[in-house]
Amino acid sequence: MVIVGAGGVGNVVAQKCAQDAANFGEIWLASRTLAKCEQIAADIKDDTGVEIKTAQIDAYNVAETAAFLRKVNATYLLNIALPYQDLTLMDACLEAGVHYLDTANYEPLDNPHFEYKYQWEYQDRFKEAGLTAILGSGFDPGVTNVFCAYALKHIFSEIRTVDIIDANAGDHGLPFATNFNPEINIREITAPGLYWEKGEWIKTKPLEISTNYTFPHKEIGTKRIYLLHHEEMESLAKNLPGLERIRFWMTFSDNYINHLTVLENVGMTSIEPIEIGGEKIAPLQFLQKVLPDPASLGPLTKGKTCIGCLITGTSRETGKEESKFIYNICDHQECFAEVKSQAISYTAGVPAMIGARQLISGAWLRPGVWNLEQLDPDPFMDDLNAWGLPWHILEVDQELSL
Ligand code: NDP
Repeated sequence: MVIVGAGGVGNVVAQKCAQDAANFGEIWLASRTLAKCEQIAADIKDDTGVEIKTAQIDAYNVAETAAFLRKVNATYLLNIALPYQDLTLMDACLEAGVHYLDTANYEPLDNPHFEYKYQWEYQDRFKEAGLTAILGSGFDPGVTNVFCAYALKHIFSEIRTVDIIDANAGDHGLPFATNFNPEINIREITAPGLYWEKGEWIKTKPLEISTNYTFPHKEIGTKRIYLLHHEEMESLAKNLPGLERIRFWMTFSDNYINHLTVLENVGMTSIEPIEIGGEKIAPLQFLQKVLPDPASLGPLTKGKTCIGCLITGTSRETGKEESKFIYNICDHQECFAEVKSQAISYTAGVPAMIGARQLISGAWLRPGVWNLEQLDPDPFMDDLNAWGLPWHILEVDQELSL
């Protein structure tokens, strides 16, 4: 097993794979900065006694990465680096005959717009090579796709609407920080909002639509949620038959929105390079360097996250329209005590390890390129309960209205 990327999420994936070392066999952690891999390997050795191997690689370099995969006899590659490297890592997997899994879909560096089309184009090549590529095995995308597949298999004969709702009610006590890679996070939030209704994509201004939502955990309570574009809507709109509408919502505090507004107003979130002292640099890349490293938020963050799917459809049991919220609650400090990461990295990293378990067991080995709702949700749902992300189903009165 080769894990590529040694950031906040890569740490969690490596830790969780090590917890299941008998199943995972030889584990390699390879990334751009070797020292980060070595630090994670040392922590894992201290915590679990498991030895994982480390290497320096440049995931943009297909030939070098493929040679590395061959050298270490890899069967699976977990891409926990950045979305910009998805295509080169898929190319390296094809060249070396290795199964592929990632947590975020490809986005060109110079265009903050993600779309599955780039990765879906690999369908025939993976099929012909007899290799499996699993796209988006984090929490959202990832668990949210599996929640929908599970709901369609066991609860609803048809799903009419889906609202994916992501709340981080944690507090790190810092004036401003992002919970995962700052550049990816800010590109996502400053982009126009988008949702899908009756076969059409409807565009909104960034953070234009918001409403209050009361979460099922009293520590989270009622929070303002904002409509965003999020990648899993693209595949779910395609793969859930009969779907009429899908939207994605995320909570942000007033403090977060105020900081982001100022940064945008002064041009710091721009990805257009500017020249300083002969060097060209995008303001957002500079900003990323001065913001706190998400990995450093682990010991500081207190509180809970709640991510789930509010689904309305025709009940298999009663034949009537019903709404259910399928969700997970995660506690930042409990995550840190277990794997030295806050809950955002934890909720993204554990599903990557669980997706890898489905490849190893053969449950999800199927040549081609797949989003998670196209695969059997049952073993993945069982593993969520077993590996740290237990889920719950709540009956709710009605779908989310504005
Ligand atoms: P980080 O920025 O903390 O980590 C990214 C890692 O990738 C770093 O170790 C970085 O190296 C490494 N890397 C970057 N470029 C290269 C390269 N060319 N070659 C090799 N390694 C490289 O990000 P996060 O851990 O926060 O996020 C990781 C991924 O998880 C992202 O794709 C993110 O979008 C995704 N994610 C998915 C979620 C989900 O729910 N689906 C939620 C949260 C995140 P270096 O250490 O040198 O910088």
